[in-house]
Amino acid sequence: MSVQSLSNARTKTVATVGPASISPDILKKLLLAGVDVFRINMAHGSRESHELAVANIRSASETTGLPAGILVDLAGPKIRLGQLTQNPLVLNNGDEIKFVRGIQSKSDDELTCIYEPLIDEVKIGDAIVLADGLARLSVIARAEDHLICRVNDGGAIRSRQGVNLPGTNLSVPALGPVDRDNAKWAAGQGVEFVSLSFVRNAEEIKELQNLLASENSEAMVIAKIEKREALDALDAIVEATDGVMVARGDLGVEIDIEKTPAAQKRIIKTCLRFRKPVIVATQMLESMHASKQPTRAEVTDVANAIHDGADACMLSGETAIGEYPVESVQMMNKIMTETEKSLSQQRARMRSEDHASAWEISDAVIFGAAHIAKRIHAKMVVIASRESEIALIKSKQRDLIPTICITDQANCYRRMSLFWGVTPVLCSSPFQHDELLNFVNQWASTNDDLKSGDHFVAVTDTDLLPGVHDSVLVAQID
Ligand code: PGA
Ligand code: MN
Repeated sequence: MSVQSLSNARTKTVATVGPASISPDILKKLLLAGVDVFRINMAHGSRESHELAVANIRSASETTGLPAGILVDLAGPKIRLGQLTQNPLVLNNGDEIKFVRGIQSKSDDELTCIYEPLIDEVKIGDAIVLADGLARLSVIARAEDHLICRVNDGGAIRSRQGVNLPGTNLSVPALGPVDRDNAKWAAGQGVEFVSLSFVRNAEEIKELQNLLASENSEAMVIAKIEKREALDALDAIVEATDGVMVARGDLGVEIDIEKTPAAQKRIIKTCLRFRKPVIVATQMLESMHASKQPTRAEVTDVANAIHDGADACMLSGETAIGEYPVESVQMMNKIMTETEKSLSQQRARMRSEDHASAWEISDAVIFGAAHIAKRIHAKMVVIASRESEIALIKSKQRDLIPTICITDQANCYRRMSLFWGVTPVLCSSPFQHDELLNFVNQWASTNDDLKSGDHFVAVTDTDLLPGVHDSVLVAQID
């Protein structure tokens, strides 16, 4: 069993599981290297491989004693090319090619895709982007059964690669039959997070939340922001959702790539305002697919995401199919701990003007506890709670005081794996003062960061004010 160190990175690491990492041995190494949440990408693999991933993650968490959240990522209406006549097929600038119905091209100048209504919904002048931006077409004419497109940016494309339609409002629902089936499966597996790709509005989030609730799942829904429509409805989506992902892979082709850094900052700021955890994703350490060293630009990108206020950074192919999954996680955590040294505090604004809400009171009490901890050089803040939202309040205050959140709810324990600056700790009943102090002493005795005489500040709920963390206690390790 390993006890979490209080000097671990405050920023959380999400790692995608794939062939390079699904074995129990690698998963264990990834956890020890600093992974907090594992992503299972439903766009790849089979039901059997997804089930194996869940089982192996749970057992790696058990054997290491480290919490691991599981994020099931629903593919949503991802459009892909059908089968090409050649693989790869080279498109040259100025070529004219056709998009036809069906999923099998019959000649080299014909493309197909898995989204049936494409030909009916795309307008003349619309852009069609292939393979994550590798090739760009514009629609110059349409007929009943095909589109004629001009190649503006040529490139070598392959069957099944992605198709993005940045200017087109698609009629396809965000949650298709496959996504619904996968969401029900995720509910049955008891995972902590379910993300939805290509979200366009808050209703789509509510639909997934309702579906999960009807399956008795308490999973937090993560909205992947990767469409222009989502940026247009950002406040409503962030308010409705439980968490957010800045999905830069698709976002970078759905909007102009040069606009993505500002979009990332805006999304993260909105998440601070609504107190929702936010993951920054895609190409963070891309070159580590095949190299032990990241580029300078990648290191700076991770650091900047943390300065922007990201709660977590995600690795995709680096841990799913790369040659150096463990090294990628180690590198990510080194950049995080170093960057956090120069972090300045940010705070969510109070919103009410008259009586403070329960959340605002807890927020003020927790802020006060952290202030006390700083004044008396306490080693940590301890929060005891059944609800993960209390941990999120502390997380979004972004002070660097080590914080453990003690809970007796397994689900709350695993959810907190995504929350910045929070070390989740599971205990049988943390709610009476005496029991809580005993438990903290016991926990501290196995932790090298704490010694006898160290002060800590505990925040609890006394029931004086219902639903509020209203009490601050200063205590000392025996
Ligand atoms: P994906 O999502 O890897 O599932 O496409 C993330 C992104 O688009 O950045
Ligand atoms: Mn995506």
